[in-house]
Amino acid sequence: VIQVYATPLYNGREKIGTILVHRDITKEYEIDQIKSEFVSTVSHELRTPLSSILGFSELMLSKELKPERQKKYVQTIYQEAQRLTALINDFLDVQRMESGKQTYDKRYGDVMPVIQRVIDLQKINVKDHTFHLQRETDQTTILMDEDKIGQVLMNLISNAVKYSPNGKDITVRVYEQSSKLCVDIIDQGLGIPKDALDKLFTKFYRVDNSDRRRIGGTGLGLSIVKEIVKAHQGEVEVQSTLKEGSTFTVKLPSVQQADQEIEEQVLLT
Ligand code: ADP
Repeated sequence: VIQVYATPLYNGREKIGTILVHRDITKEYEIDQIKSEFVSTVSHELRTPLSSILGFSELMLSKELKPERQKKYVQTIYQEAQRLTALINDFLDVQRMESGKQTYDKRYGDVMPVIQRVIDLQKINVKDHTFHLQRETDQTTILMDEDKIGQVLMNLISNAVKYSPNGKDITVRVYEQSSKLCVDIIDQGLGIPKDALDKLFTKFYRVDNSDRRRIGGTGLGLSIVKEIVKAHQGEVEVQSTLKEGSTFTVKLPSVQQADQEIEEQVLLT
C-alpha cells in the first residue's frame, strides 16, 4: 500500500513543479487491519459467554425451576464465566509478556504428569476425541515453570481438539532428539494453509477461511505458546497439510543441556 503526497513547488509565483512523496504504508495498513479485526473478535468473544450468563440468570430469576434444571443452568453460567476468565487471563498474559514483567518459577520436574493432566482436562470437553500418549524416552525431566509449560500444552492440545472434527485421534508423542526433549501434538484436523504457517505465532493472527469461521478464538494462544517456550530456551515448530492435519512440536532443553547452560552461566559470572 503506497501513500502519495503531492506538494506544488513554486519559484516566486510561478509553479515550477510538484514534489511527490511516496510512502510505503503496507505495515501500518496491516497493523490497522489486525487491530480492527481484533476489536471485533474480542467483542464477539466477550459477548458470547456474557449473553449466556445473562440469559440463564434471567431465566432463573423469572421462573420457579425444578432443582435439576436449576443445577444445569448454574453449570452453564459457571462454564461461561470460566471461559471469560480464561480469555481475560490470556489478555493479561500477553500484556505481561510484552512488558517483560512475566516471571518464571523454574524447577526440575517430570513433564509426563503435566501432559496427562492436560489430556484429562480435555477429555471433559464437549467434543469426543481419542487421545494417545506415546512415551519414547525415559528422560522426561526438564527445568520448567510447571504452570507455564502446562499452559503451552493446554493451548496446543485444546487447539488440536478445537480444529479437528469429533471422533478424530489426537496423539501426543514424547521423545528425545539432539539433547532436546520433544513433544509432538499430532491431530487429524483441518490443517493449516501454507501461506498462514509463518504468521501463525503472531499475536491476534487467526486463519480466516470458511471452514473455521464459526470456531471461536482470539488468535492469542499460539503467541503465548511461543513466548513461554522461548523463555525456556526452547523452540516450537509446526508442520501441516490442509484437510489432513497438523503437528506442533515443542522442543525444550533436556536436563543435561539445561545443567550445562547453568554451569556455563556460573563460570561466566
Ligand atoms: P485461536 O485458536 O484463538 O484463533 P491461536 O493462536 O491458538 O488462536 O491459533 C491461531 C490460528 O491457528 C487459529 O485461528 C487456527 O486457524 C490455527 N490453528 C491453530 N492450531 C491449529 C490446529 N491444530 N489445526 C488447525 N489450525 C490451527
